[in-house]
This record gives sequence, structure tokens and C-alpha cells, in this order.
Amino acid sequence: MNPKAYKKGSLTVETAMILPVFMTALLALVSILLMYLAGQRMQMQLINTAEDLAVKCSDGHNEALSAIRDDFVDSIPEEDLRFIQNGKDGIDMSGSDLDDPEYIVLSVRCDLVPLTGSFGVLSVPYSRKCLTHIWCGYERGYYPDDEYVYITNDSEVYHRDRECSHILLSVKEVSPNQVGSLRNMNGGRYRACEICHARLTGGRIYITDDGDRYHNSITCSGLKRTVYAVRLSEVGDKRPCSRCGR
Ligand SMILES: [Zn+2]
Ligand SMILES: [Zn+2]
Repeated sequence: MNPKAYKKGSLTVETAMILPVFMTALLALVSILLMYLAGQRMQMQLINTAEDLAVKCSDGHNEALSAIRDDFVDSIPEEDLRFIQNGKDGIDMSGSDLDDPEYIVLSVRCDLVPLTGSFGVLSVPYSRKCLTHIWCGYERGYYPDDEYVYITNDSEVYHRDRECSHILLSVKEVSPNQVGSLRNMNGGRYRACEICHARLTGGRIYITDDGDRYHNSITCSGLKRTVYAVRLSEVGDKRPCSRCGR
């Protein structure tokens, strides 16, 4: 056999074998990335839905979960729906809690799949929860001559922006064996909440970035924080927030 011809042939065979594998891997990577982004957008949409509800429900108005789910599902763009197993039908919001007079808990569960048809039955369980306080402040413009700012009980600053990230209380669900290694935004450890008698045995626990307790109950009053809208002339010696106070 001519050695030159042999060599040339083997290279072609290798290329023919590796190229599809490489392309498949690349495609898998891209679709996993897109699937992840779809999940992120769904989480943002969940937060927006909860915030809208918080305002809507502030006058005691009740919204049915089925209507909330319909709106939420309709807000998911077509290009994201294809990453959700069974599309709109695959979205489960039954873990939501709308019965608390102070809080709204929205929950979304589904299975995410990379592009259907390409990678068989691979699926990733997706679950997000959003807890928001029903709006309890005064209406802006109630005293049109005075500017309104936002304060919380435990803070020495006031905020001009209601949506300031220093106010937004994000509750995170963590597993009990993680909590020992976690630190809050001031670098402090988390201790057991006295109010809900939190224990590290069994179940999930809840923490916030700016809190120093872990909780067993997501509705524990220790996890709650009230935001007040007050007139700027009433904030006393509170300083403007470094982020939104200018
Ligand atoms: Zn602020
Ligand atoms: Zn607690």
C-alpha cells in the first residue's frame, strides 16, 4: 500500500468522526446556556408579577391563582417556552400562597430541557420562589408638595428609590449543612432565629443577605421587613442611601 495514500485516508476518517462529535458538543453547550437564560428571565418575570400583585392587593383585593398563572404563562416568550417541558402546561404554580394577609408567595416549578429532539430526555428540575410584602405605604402624591422617601425600621439611611437594591429583601432557601459556612453582607454568621425556633435538623432553612438569623419558616416574622414611605422632612437624622440617595 502506498503510505501517503494511507495517511491521507486516515486523516479524513478522523475528521469525519470528530467533527460531528465536536459540533454536537458545541450545540449542547449553546442550548444549555440558552436554557439557563430562559430560567433567569422566568425568575425576573416572577419577581415582576409578585411586585405588581403586591400593589394590586394592597387594598384587600384578592387575585385568583389561576388568573395569575395565566398572565405569568402568557408573559413567557415563545423562544423561552421551548426550553420548558410540555411548554405552558408544564408550568406548576400550585406551591404559591395567596392566603397570607401580609405576604404573597409565588412559586414556579417545571422541568427545563435543552432543545427538544436534539438531546433526548435530558431534563433539569427548575424551582423558584418569590416572597413579597403587600404594599403598605401611602400613595405618592398624597402630599404633592413634599417629596416621599422610603425607610425601614432597622436602617440609618433613607432611600429615594423604592426599588433600591438596599431595600429589597431577598430570602434565600439554603440547606441546613450549608449555613455554617455562609456569611451575611456584613461578614457575620447566621444564628438560629428565636421567633420560629429554627433548628438545623431536617427541612430547608431561610436566610437573607442583610439578616443574621436563619429561619425554618418562610413566613416567620423575623424574616419580614416593613418599608415605610415618609416625607423627606420627617426622616430626622437618617442619612441618604449611598446607592439611591444622591
Ligand atoms: Zn437606597
Ligand atoms: Zn424565624
